[in-house]
Amino acid sequence: MFLTDLTWPMVRDLDRGIPVVIPIAAVEQHGRHLPLATDSLLLAEVVRRAEPRVADGALFAPLQWLGNSHHHIDFPGTMSASPRVYIDLLQDLAETFLRHGFTRILFLNGHGGNVIPAKQAIFEMRQRLRDRSDLVLLFTSYWNLANPQDGRLTQPEIGHAGEWETSMILRIAPHLVAEDPKGLKPVSPAFGFEPAYRGWTTRERSEIGHIGSPQVASEEKGERLLSAFAAGVATFLERMREQGGGDPA
Ligand SMILES: [Zn+2]
Repeated sequence: MFLTDLTWPMVRDLDRGIPVVIPIAAVEQHGRHLPLATDSLLLAEVVRRAEPRVADGALFAPLQWLGNSHHHIDFPGTMSASPRVYIDLLQDLAETFLRHGFTRILFLNGHGGNVIPAKQAIFEMRQRLRDRSDLVLLFTSYWNLANPQDGRLTQPEIGHAGEWETSMILRIAPHLVAEDPKGLKPVSPAFGFEPAYRGWTTRERSEIGHIGSPQVASEEKGERLLSAFAAGVATFLERMREQGGGDPA
């Protein structure tokens, strides 16, 4: 169910152990061909498809469109909360639910730049609330909840405005694709210093903004990706419910 459809007494009466999903995305450049809202549109679509599968078994907060996108800030139109501000924002979002007694929070992510600050946000919260044995604070990106590889995808992972994201936008909002992706050149995802993690800005990896292979995108791939990810989200929420406190032992 969607939080924004409920009244406050309806929220008051919910089971406090219900998984609370906070979808987090971004508004940032997605190459010359995809809209700035790509990550928000795609995560909203994954949520829209997953929600009926879990029905009253999970509470979905509205999507937080502002993400940590400072690595894309050189490209006009990108909006971003700096990492420290974003960590505080996520903690405030989660704490509104904790204040009202909910105990299981999942940040469901749709943007790579949110990964590090969102993990930091829940790591800090857990240390601050270390005596609360009832809490389950989780983070995942939707693309980690399913493996859509079936031999027909070129990219091994989601990339940025490449095969996967372009395919999914072609599926849900083709009118927003500003340029035929078939005419675009692939951009390697390599950092150059693997296996080390390298601090980076998008501009130094991609002049044009995309990373990956948008030229092989298709609407049909987009449908397969979206349905795999929506099923993966629904399965994970079932697991959150069944696993209770989730004690790994
Ligand atoms: Zn994206």
